[in-house]
Amino acid sequence: MDVRRRQAKMPQSVKIGADEPPMKPNNPKPSDALPLPLSFTNGLFFTMFFSVMYFLLTRWREKIRNSTPLHVVTLSELAASVSLLASIIYLIGFFGIDFVQSVIYRSNEDAWDVEEEENEKLIIEDDSRMGTSPATTLGCAVPVVPLIPQQPTKVPVTEKPAPIITPQSSEEDEQIVNSVVEGKVPSYSLESKLGDCKRAASIRREALQRITGKSLEGLPLEGFDYESILGQCCEMPVGYVQIPVGIAGPLLLNGAEFMVPMATTEGCLVASTNRGCKAIYASGGATGTLLKDGMTRAPVVRFETAKRAAELKLYLESPVNYETISVVFNKSSRFARLQGIQCAMAGKNLYIRFTCSTGDAMGMNMVSKGVQNVLDYLENDFPDMDVIGISGNFCSDKKPAAVNWIEGRGKSVVCEAIIKEEIVTKVLKTNVAALVELNMLKNLTGSAIAGALGGFNAHASNIVSAVYIATGQDPAQNIESSHCITMMEAVNDGKDLHISVTMPSIEVGTVGGGTQLASQSACLNLLGVKGASKELAGANARLLATIVAGSVLAGELSLMSAIAAGQLVKSHMKYNRSSKDVTKISSQGKAHK
Ligand code: ADP
Repeated sequence: MDVRRRQAKMPQSVKIGADEPPMKPNNPKPSDALPLPLSFTNGLFFTMFFSVMYFLLTRWREKIRNSTPLHVVTLSELAASVSLLASIIYLIGFFGIDFVQSVIYRSNEDAWDVEEEENEKLIIEDDSRMGTSPATTLGCAVPVVPLIPQQPTKVPVTEKPAPIITPQSSEEDEQIVNSVVEGKVPSYSLESKLGDCKRAASIRREALQRITGKSLEGLPLEGFDYESILGQCCEMPVGYVQIPVGIAGPLLLNGAEFMVPMATTEGCLVASTNRGCKAIYASGGATGTLLKDGMTRAPVVRFETAKRAAELKLYLESPVNYETISVVFNKSSRFARLQGIQCAMAGKNLYIRFTCSTGDAMGMNMVSKGVQNVLDYLENDFPDMDVIGISGNFCSDKKPAAVNWIEGRGKSVVCEAIIKEEIVTKVLKTNVAALVELNMLKNLTGSAIAGALGGFNAHASNIVSAVYIATGQDPAQNIESSHCITMMEAVNDGKDLHISVTMPSIEVGTVGGGTQLASQSACLNLLGVKGASKELAGANARLLATIVAGSVLAGELSLMSAIAAGQLVKSHMKYNRSSKDVTKISSQGKAHK
C-alpha cells in the first residue's frame, strides 16, 4: 500500500532555516566541521532523517504483516539504521534532544495514522461486499481484509473514531492473530496452545473481526472468567452476551418465600410474573408437589431379525434380569439409580428407554454413562446386537415428543393455588368467571384445535426459559420442560379461583453444566438451591423444579388475567416497545461510538 507521510509539524517555538540563528550560538555544532552552508547541511540531514525513518517504518510494517521476526535485518535496513543514527546525532547536536524526540514522535504517528485510515476505508468497502455471506468467509483460510498493524506508539485517540480492532497486548499476539486469519493456526487450538483462555478468546475475537470485516463492538470480552467454561460450557469463545436479570417475587410456595431470578429481554414478562406472585402471596401462597424424578436416555439397537429384538425386550422386562441390570447401570455414579426400563419396537429395531434418578444433576451425562455400562454388559448375552446409537430419540431430549408429555422426563410437578375473589378483582383486574371461560376456550380447546403437544397453557415457556437462563440450565430443554396444562376452576361457591399447572418434564439441576458459572451460581444461591444438597441428594434440584412450576403458575395467572381483561396489547405497548427508531439499527463493519 502506498503510504503518504504527512509533513512533520515543527514545534512553534522552534524555527529552522539559514535566516535564523542557532539556538545556542556559543556552543560548537557538528555543522561547524562541514565546509557547507548551514541551511544546506540542515536540509541534508533532515531529508536523510525523514527518508530513512520512512523506509524503516515501511519495512517494520511489512515484517509485522508477514510475521517476520523484527530482529532479522537486511543489509539495506542496516545501512538505513546507520544513516538514521548519524542524522539523529547531527540533529541532537544542533537542535537539542527535546526537539528531535518530538519530530520522531510526530513522523511516527503520521505514518501510521495514514495507514490506519486507509485500512479502515478498505474494511468498510469489504464489509459491504461480504455482507451476504459471513459464514463462507469464516470457513476459508485466506484473509480477505488487509490486516491492520498494531500501533507502535501511543497515539491520542480522542481526535479519531474508535478503530474496529481491539489493541493487542503484544507483537506476539499480533503474529498469532495473523496466523489464525491466514489459517495457519486453527482457532479452536488457541486455548491449548497458549494455556491462557482469556488471551485465546481475545486473539480469536480479533481474528474473527478481521476475517469478517464486522465489528464486535458491544459484545464484551472483559469481565468474564474464560477458564470456567473450558471443556464444559462453550468452545471457541469470543466474548459473552449480556442478558438482564429481573426479579419476580416473593413467590410464596409451600410456606417458603422465593425471589425468582429471570433472565430475559422480553419487556413485561418479569412485571407480569411479579404481579402473579403478588396475587398468590395475597391469597395465602401456592402448593407444589413433586410427582416423579427421573432422567431418561433411550439407545436404539438393531438385530438381524425382529424375533431377536423381541427376545431382548422380554429379557429386559424380566424382573430377575432387571435386578442385575440395575447393579450394572448404577455403577456409573453414586447418584444414579435405575428406576425403570421401557421398550418400544420398530421391526428389527429396539428402543430401550432407561429412567434413573440423578441426585442434584440434571443428569444427561449420568444416565448416558449408565446406559453405556448396560449396553456393554448386554454384549455378552446378545453378541448379535448392533448398537446404532446411544440416543435413539425415544428419550426424548430437546424435541417435542408425546413420550415426555405422557411419561414425564426429569421432574414432574403439579402446582396449585386458590386465588381469592377480591384478589382476582383488585390485583388481577378481572373476574373468576372470565378467567375460567378463557382458560377453557384458549388453553384447552384452542390448543386442542391447534393439535398441541403439551402446550395447554398460555406461556409456560416464557417463564421456564427465563429461569433456566438465569440459573444455568440447558435452555434447549425448554422444549419439553415447558410442557404444561393449566387448569382453572371456580371454587368456594364460584367465588374464588382454583388454578393449577401440571408440568411432567422439568429438567433441571443444581450441579454440573452451566450451574457452576459465577452469574448462574449467584442466581441459584438467591433461591437457596446452589450446588449439591447437604441434607439429601437431589433435594436442591427437586426444589428448583418446584420453584419453576410455581413461577409458571404466577405467569399463567397474570397473563391470563391480562387477556381476560383485554389489557394485553395495552401493557405490551407500554413495557415492550421502545421509542427508538429500529430502522437505524443495522450491521456495522466499523465501530462507531
Ligand atoms: P449431568 O449429568 O447433569 O450432565 P454432570 O455429569 O456434568 O451433570 O454433573 C454431575 C456430576 O456432579 C457427577 O460427576 C456427580 O458425581 C457430581 N455430583 C456431586 N454432587 C452431586 C449431587 N448431589 N447430585 C448429583 N451429582 C453430583
